[in-house]
Order: sequence, then structure tokens, then C-alpha cells
Amino acid sequence: MDSRTAAHALNEIAALLELHGDNKFKTRAYRQAAKAVLALDADDLTPLVRSGELATLKGVGPATLSVLEDLVATGDSEYLDLLREKTPEGLIEMLRVPGLGTAKIHLIHRGLGLETLHELEEAARDGRLAGLPRFGAKTAEKVLKGIAFLKETGALVLYPHASAEAGRLLASVRRHPDVGRAELAGSVRRRREVIRDVDVVAACRAHPATVAASFAHAPGVRDIVGGGSRSVTVRYVDGTLLDLHCVRPAEFAVALWRATGSAEHVAEVTAHAAARGFAIDGDELRDESGRPVELADEAAFYATLGLAFIPPELREGRGEVAAAARALPELIGAGDIRGVLHCHSQYSDGASTIAEMAEAARARGWRYLGVSDHSQSAFYAGGLARDAILRQHDEIDDVNASLASSGFRVLKGIEADILPCGRVDYDAEVLDRFDYVIGSIHSRFGMGETQMTERVLKALGDPHLTILGHPTGRLLLTREPYAIDMGAVIERAGEVGAAIELNADPHRLDLDWRLCRQAKEANVLVEIGPDAHSTHGLDNVEIGVGIARKGWLERADVLNARGADEVLAFAQARRARA
Ligand SMILES: [Zn+2]
Ligand SMILES: [Zn+2]
Repeated sequence: MDSRTAAHALNEIAALLELHGDNKFKTRAYRQAAKAVLALDADDLTPLVRSGELATLKGVGPATLSVLEDLVATGDSEYLDLLREKTPEGLIEMLRVPGLGTAKIHLIHRGLGLETLHELEEAARDGRLAGLPRFGAKTAEKVLKGIAFLKETGALVLYPHASAEAGRLLASVRRHPDVGRAELAGSVRRRREVIRDVDVVAACRAHPATVAASFAHAPGVRDIVGGGSRSVTVRYVDGTLLDLHCVRPAEFAVALWRATGSAEHVAEVTAHAAARGFAIDGDELRDESGRPVELADEAAFYATLGLAFIPPELREGRGEVAAAARALPELIGAGDIRGVLHCHSQYSDGASTIAEMAEAARARGWRYLGVSDHSQSAFYAGGLARDAILRQHDEIDDVNASLASSGFRVLKGIEADILPCGRVDYDAEVLDRFDYVIGSIHSRFGMGETQMTERVLKALGDPHLTILGHPTGRLLLTREPYAIDMGAVIERAGEVGAAIELNADPHRLDLDWRLCRQAKEANVLVEIGPDAHSTHGLDNVEIGVGIARKGWLERADVLNARGADEVLAFAQARRARA
């Protein structure tokens, strides 16, 4: 019994308990145990049970331990089987519909006796779902949209989840005795915002096809869903997909390149190679005489073709091959970030104090932290009334006084709601008190495109607004962007000298990377905002930088790659221009 399979079983127990309306503490215990076991990353838990190590593992209690012992001894859990018998499979599927939690599904099942996704769809159409207490027509419509969305995006997961999975899978491939070298490829390496499967390229000491085939029996594998002789697509018990490409060591460089780029990138490089008399044949590059070219790594591959090394994030077939023949942008790196501007504290809906956030930012090597709590209209998120702002500013002055010797600074910002009429929350007297203002939309997402665009253009007309926050409001895999003409918004931001945010919360990653270049061309600075609601949330910056790199952004294009004084001057200049 391996970690992944055991954790999956524990998580399944938690979900089933929730569906049956069991108490929160019980379900939380199973999820915690799952997390702890997954972190062990063991191919076989048996020795850990025998040595008693599992019993003392943090996060594992008596009930979860007995399930784990059962799993290790028999490969199954009697308790899980019992719960499964009591639960129609369709209910578990319903959990994947955006907006439907275990509590609602519990009500749907009890109230209407629905057991499949198909039945749920019908009930949402014919009005039965709307008739349930606490549901209504709006909820039914949302469920229909959610089911349609699920059909489209079903197999996708967010980047941080995929990236963590990818790390574990890569480690397991590297543990294989016949694998010499293995690296991540595919959309994880390109740092896409959502991921379907994890690609790994492995250079094999034994015959590649034999190594590929051996993964069918690896721990935690449910089935083989595709592949050729030297590549295999493995599905694990928790639904994770691994695309494993096994090659001879001499083919590694080309194989890694081929498994990393998007189809468009691979096609463009292949055409470029052909124009220079080379041919890419499987995982080999051949010269004019048809002889395979020896390549030490990807850099040598690009160099042989007369191209600069193309960073993986750019390999999307959006002009990078032509640019690599001349000059590629010098992409921003995580080390270029000097501070952060979009952070919440306990004053609104954050979990940490200002001093804690400042310390955590300093520990990450940054020179400033901007506090931007919610504004008064965002009452649901503890938005700040005038007196709370004054208190907060006093506290920031105190924190700054205590940090004076370190040179680190806390800036006074706000995430002010852009009201439905396009006004920025607060009057000018209050807005003038802030070092900078992030303006965001948090209400009335359903406006038509003309109205919504007008709303944002009007807000951009307020010289207090320094940065337009999460400009399309999308929540990846959950909520579509609102209808808005981003071309017009970017153009106006350029005209008035406002920055646009690349919100680095992995659920948002908004501005979309495909639009970052458009912002750059319109001379709009991009602010990479962690939207941190705790010290831990500051880690979002690294994910945001990955997306900025996908958007071709350089250090000079990013507002918070500048020092605090320059940020303040930027906000001041905008106010002075008005
Ligand atoms: Zn926000
Ligand atoms: Zn925020």
C-alpha cells in the first residue's frame, strides 16, 4: 500500500462522511490524515505500520490509524466499502460541479432522491431543483452552468495542485532502477494556469519500452489509458494522469523539448529546422546527410538551429520562435520583485497582523509590503470604515517606526471596491490618505459588456486609482470572467497612467498571460499582487511571476519590481496629472 492510494482512500472517506451530513471534526480528521500520509511519499507503508511510526505521525489519530492498518493489511478499507455501499456514485460525481458542496448535495439527495449527474441536470431544467427549500431558480441555473462547465473542464486542475503532484511523480520516476535522468515537461514546465496531465521525460539505461511498460504495475496506478511503445499514459487511483516518455540517453534533449512545447511551438520549430536543412525525426535531430546530431541538452538543440534558448514558459507558439532568431525578452524572475502591494490583514478578512505580514515579507527578501484591506462597501469581507482606516494608519506608523533601522517599509494601501456606478469607494478626503489605491470589482458580476466596460473606464478616470485589481474577476475552473472589453480597458489604463494587476492567487491569475503582452505594448505597468490573506499567501508571488514570464514581461514592465519610492512616485504622478 503506497501513500497516494492510502491518502485517496482517506479523502474518499471524508467526502462520503460529508455527503451523509456527518460532523465536521470527524471529516477534518480524515483529510488531515490523508495529507500527512501523502507527505510521507512512500511506495510501501507496511514497514511504517510495523515500526509504529505511522501511529505517532502528526495528523493520524486512532480512527484514521485503524483505517490505515486495514489498508496496509488487506489493500482495502472495510469502513470505506461500507460507506460506498451506502452512497450512490452519482453523488460523488456531483461534488465536482462548481458551487455544489457536500451540504447542498446532501439536501438534493434527501429532498429529491436524485442519484446521478444526469438526473440532477434534468431536475435543474424542469424546475424540481428550484422548488427545493433554500435553492430557487438562480441556484438551479447555476447548477446547470456548473454541469456544462464540468463537462468542458472536468479533468483540469490548478497549477499549484498539479505542480505538487508533478514533484511526487517525478521523484517516483527517478527512483526507478533503470532511469538515469528524468525531468518534468509539458504544461507544468510551461507553467500553465490549469493542467490536464503531468509529463515526465526519462532517459533509460534499459530498453525504453520495457521501462515504460513497467509503470503499469507501479504503486497507486489504476489503469493505463494510452501511449505508444516508449511512452505510456498512466492513471492513478486519484485520477492524476502521468504521461511518461521513455527514451535512450542520446535522445533526451530532443525528447524533453518535444514533450515541453505546445503543439504550435513544436510545429514552428520543426518548420524552422526544415528551412535550415535539418529534420526532426521522433526524438532525434538529423542533419542534411541524415545523420543524428549529438546534443548535450536543450540549449544545444536550439543553438544548432540558430535560435536562442527559449524559456519553457514562452513555448506556446506565439511568436517566440521568430523572436529567438533575433532577440528574446529578458524575462522577469522572482528575484526581481522588490515588494508587494496587494495584501490583506486582520483589519478586513486577512488572518495575520500587519507586523506579521511585514516580517514575512522581509523574510522573503522584499523591501516593502503594501497593506490593502477591503473598503467599506465590501461589508461581507469586513471592509474598513473611516475610523478603522485611521487606526490602521496609526498602527502602520508604529510598525514602520520599529522597522526603521532595517529600511523595510509598510505602505498604506486599500483595495477599494469599484461600485456598480463606476465610482471608487470612499470620498476624495479619505482616498487622499492612502499611498496608493487598488480598485477592484467585487459585486454585480452579471452586468452586460457595455455597462461593465463603462464601469471600469469610469473608475480608471479617477486619479486616485493606482492599480486596477484582478481585472476580469475570473476564478479558474469555477467562475468565468465577467463580460468586459479588455482591449478598451488596457488602452485607457495606458492613457491615464494606471497599472493593471496580475493577481497571483492561483485561482485567479488575472490579468491572463495572453493579455500581458498587450498591456506591455500599451505601456501599462503590471503589478504582480499576491492578494495574500495570510503570511502563507505571500508565496503566490512566485506563481504570478511564472505567469508574467508567460506574458513576455520583463523587469521594467512590473510595478513592484521597482523600489518603494518609485511606487509612491507612480501613484503621485497619476494624481498630479489630473
Ligand atoms: Zn479583490
Ligand atoms: Zn484582495
